[in-house]
Amino acid sequence: MEINKPRFRFAPSPTGGLHIGTARTALFNWISARSMGGDLILRIEDTDLKRSTKEFEDSIINDLKWLGLNWDEFYRQSDRINLYKSEAERLLKEGKAYMCFCDSERLESIKEKLISEGKPSGYDNKCRGLLKEEVEENLKNKINYTIRYKVNPEEIKFNDLIRGEIKFTSEVISDFVLIKSDGTPSYNFAVVIDDNDMGITHVLRGEDHITNTARQIMLFESLGYKIPDFAHLSMILGKDGAKLSKRHGAATITQYKNEGYLKEAMANYLSLLSWAPRDGEEIFYLSGILEKFRICDISKNPAIFDVDKLNWLNGNYIRKKSDEELFELVMPFLEKEDIVKPEDLKDKNFKDKIMKCVSAFKDKLKTLAEFPGCVKEFFSNNINYYEEEAIEILKLDSSRIVMDLFNKKIQEINLLNKSDIAGDGSILNEEKSKDIINEIGFELKNKNIKGKFLYMPIRSSLTGKVHGPELPKVISILGPEECLNRIKQTAAFLKDNRLS
Ligand code: GLU
Repeated sequence: MEINKPRFRFAPSPTGGLHIGTARTALFNWISARSMGGDLILRIEDTDLKRSTKEFEDSIINDLKWLGLNWDEFYRQSDRINLYKSEAERLLKEGKAYMCFCDSERLESIKEKLISEGKPSGYDNKCRGLLKEEVEENLKNKINYTIRYKVNPEEIKFNDLIRGEIKFTSEVISDFVLIKSDGTPSYNFAVVIDDNDMGITHVLRGEDHITNTARQIMLFESLGYKIPDFAHLSMILGKDGAKLSKRHGAATITQYKNEGYLKEAMANYLSLLSWAPRDGEEIFYLSGILEKFRICDISKNPAIFDVDKLNWLNGNYIRKKSDEELFELVMPFLEKEDIVKPEDLKDKNFKDKIMKCVSAFKDKLKTLAEFPGCVKEFFSNNINYYEEEAIEILKLDSSRIVMDLFNKKIQEINLLNKSDIAGDGSILNEEKSKDIINEIGFELKNKNIKGKFLYMPIRSSLTGKVHGPELPKVISILGPEECLNRIKQTAAFLKDNRLS
């Protein structure tokens, strides 16, 4: 293949969803390809027929798209089995590979023996020495066989674009399988044939593949292929320095999406796992990263996965959204928690109420999934419980004075609302609510009721709590009728508990 531009590939195995680590590899390949004006190939490595599923493939593809990544070519290894077989035949003919008839029991016992001797587990190369007649006899008897590569003693060297020169001696590597007994290729073999066939110029993947790279370089040479450049991304560790696990928040991208992380935040965060822009600016959209990115700036030190930083970034992106955009994003979360049903939106008041909630909580949210919990209380006609501190406030004589006045003013508004053509409660908007509180403050000035003693009783009687979004927002979200309902409920609560 004539290669005149960089070609990267992302090659997930569909044996699970798209995890943080694999998503980061995909992202770095995408950024590298796009920033160098190159191509990106998505290759599904599904030759492990037992563990690969179409569901995982679909979920990986959905998550990649959700993150904003795209690719120029798509392949599936299971569609290419014949190519691997014919290249294995070629190596057999050239004497660079051989048939191995050892059964799994024998291989298992060799493995145990080598491990007990403290040697790297592998194969004892027994079948390398089989005579032609022995091979023919085995084939005649239909004994299952694998095709193994003959590892020659040599030093393998390559220049890793992130880590510099890496050397291996092939002594630690025993003859390895190219084609399994079921006719499917091994990972190392299929990768090399595909990377060559697809004209890959840069192999960018996780550090856990470095030992595979040694095997693959031998294969590239034996097959007469051009060797691509290699770059190995460092591991991702938890904050405690241990390998990233579920305990640290390692999850699939689907899970993060379901927990209410925005794609922009996720992509931004993943890009910061072992890379940082030279200008130090840490918040950027994918489009912005392309001009800043250079492979040589990728760090070889382990990346630390810090969920607090991800939350911080997510909050930033939430605040960058318009209220209308955020409304669309929180709807599925409200529906999931049964707070809203899609048909509720036919009622304009309902949508207005959600929009008011969006505006009230936008500054506080770290994830979208927190939203239903924040607003739930505004969508019921009941105050579930009263906090101790709220009760203490409500018991005060001054609170009764504030509430009488507040009640009176909301009654007036309610009447106005009813005679209003719209009649949708919009009359009690945030501005008006603020005015009402100010008026009460003004009227009670001579009684020296102000500040906390003015706000807290109103908030406590409307929500049963002493904290929450700005009070005018709360009043406006509830609307005149629900405010009156809650004032009544609180009065009854105080009476029942002989607190008033
Ligand atoms: N299928 C391999 C994996 O998921 C890809 C390794 C590679 O990029 O060569 O780890």
